Amino acid sequence: MSSSALIEIREQSVIPFHTYLWKIASRCNLNCSYCYVYNRADQRWRQQPHFMSEQTARQTALRVREHLEAHKKEDLGITFHGGEPMLGGVNHLQMLLEVIDQELISQGFKVRLAMQTNLTLFTEEIGDLLLKYNVCVGTSLDGPPELNDLFRIDHQGRPSSAAVEHNLQKLRMPPYQKLFAGILCVINPFSSPIRVLDHLLRFSPPGIDFLLPLNNHDDLPLGKVKDKDSTAYGDWLIRTFDHWWELGAPSEIRIFNSILRLCCGMSSGFESLGLDPVDLVVVETNGDIEGVDSLKAAYEGATCLSCNVFENDFDTVASHEMVRFRQNGLNELCQTCCRCPVVKICGGGYIPHRYSAARGFDNPSVYCRDLEKIIRHIHATLKTTINSATCGDVFDVAGHSSAS
Ligand code: SF4
Repeated sequence: MSSSALIEIREQSVIPFHTYLWKIASRCNLNCSYCYVYNRADQRWRQQPHFMSEQTARQTALRVREHLEAHKKEDLGITFHGGEPMLGGVNHLQMLLEVIDQELISQGFKVRLAMQTNLTLFTEEIGDLLLKYNVCVGTSLDGPPELNDLFRIDHQGRPSSAAVEHNLQKLRMPPYQKLFAGILCVINPFSSPIRVLDHLLRFSPPGIDFLLPLNNHDDLPLGKVKDKDSTAYGDWLIRTFDHWWELGAPSEIRIFNSILRLCCGMSSGFESLGLDPVDLVVVETNGDIEGVDSLKAAYEGATCLSCNVFENDFDTVASHEMVRFRQNGLNELCQTCCRCPVVKICGGGYIPHRYSAARGFDNPSVYCRDLEKIIRHIHATLKTTINSATCGDVFDVAGHSSAS
């Protein structure tokens, strides 16, 4: 990038980052067949150092501090991610947490620490360290063993659910239960939604995040056929929602709570829904700074911003066109989405789901009909439950009163 272009970009206002996803390990002890890091289009992980070093961690923390000071912010989130963030063991985690303590917490910043892990390597020693620094832990489980172990396997093809569930039982009990943040579950449209939800609720997770698989228009999701309208994922979500609603909405389910909030005119709090700007950025084990991590499922280099913590500050990254693309709301959506009556809630869906080689991200989500269906269902449920005026006009944002 030329220096004049850089100066011009930096002079424009930027939306500062609040959540920093640190890829502290670039390898994993599991080999889930759908994994967007290892088993999809982008194979650049092979060139990454296995673990984030102290030097890279410190430089990242200093860049974060510089960015927040420039924007007069003191609250931030740091999430350890991978690969598998527990792969480097307790000493690696301790080094990273000490760096964050020295460079940020001790400097007066309020840091929400979290970790997304497969949990198979959890030990009490690691748990005690996470307790000391108050690091919240989210894990992944795709339902009961016969479903989870279809895809979540190790490098020898062995199932992972026994180890995960064993450690989940520890995590949900004292003294660790206050660290337990929730469970990610990738949707399998051929599964029983009720059986999946009931199984996950057995662990009393504070939150559940049902994820639509990271597919797109060229790499269709399980159960979808090109040019054939199917709402298998929307139907799955509706059955799950109805069961959850009948149970009194135990545990926060992020996609449902986000739609409910958006229906009431609040912000989504979720980068996959709504039109709020995304304020999350990723730092790889070598210090490379990247955009939304899951774009790796789309094509090789999709997340690449050509920035690194040793050479670039976060203001430069926040000015990058790929980052601004995620912050521009309606302006960056395709014509179909712009005309869509539910766009204020859907937001065009998650960016990786919009991709096709022919049109880039200028498409509706590959889950378009599913999203519209679950949004309309939740909106209708809400209207029958509360004062309809509260959620009456959310479908009118684009000037339409019904779906096209
Ligand atoms: S429902 Fe479909 S058309 Fe409407 S905003 Fe979402 S992806 Fe776009």
